Amino acid sequence: RIISMNIRVGQGYDVHRLAEGRPFILGGLEIAHPVGPLGHSDADLVCHVLCDALLGAANLGNIGYHFSDKDPRWKGVASTLLLARVLEMVRENGYEVGNVDVTVVLQEPKLNPHIPAIKASLAAVMNVAEEDISLKATTSEHLGFVGRQEGIAAHCVALIYKK
Ligand code: MG
Repeated sequence: RIISMNIRVGQGYDVHRLAEGRPFILGGLEIAHPVGPLGHSDADLVCHVLCDALLGAANLGNIGYHFSDKDPRWKGVASTLLLARVLEMVRENGYEVGNVDVTVVLQEPKLNPHIPAIKASLAAVMNVAEEDISLKATTSEHLGFVGRQEGIAAHCVALIYKK
């Protein structure tokens, strides 16, 4: 599929500290792991970077502007709900998702076995075809805060087009 008109791109970046006793949820899928990302919401980094990349592409601000971590409404909320709301905003502004590409940077756990299930989860939340959702994982070669397993990071690029 080639989209020739009114294409916009956005990018997102997010980091969360890892803490004991927190669920490890990425893209709405919970993965068994002894530590999980700490945050005001469920700290689902994949959803957060998708929100920021899509909001950036539509020039609609950022995730913190729309879902403040000071707002009790978002305490412990599933970030899939935030992502679904961002998709509504993008579509209300006349855009549709072309494709998204997410990279998660983490030392453990190995994400590859979970990628098909996470993509299926995201496709359902976003109402976007799985073939338009790319999800990749990489380590940081044991360097830095990711390597020390103090935190995990994620990057995302999103393309949207005018309907
Ligand atoms: Mg975040």
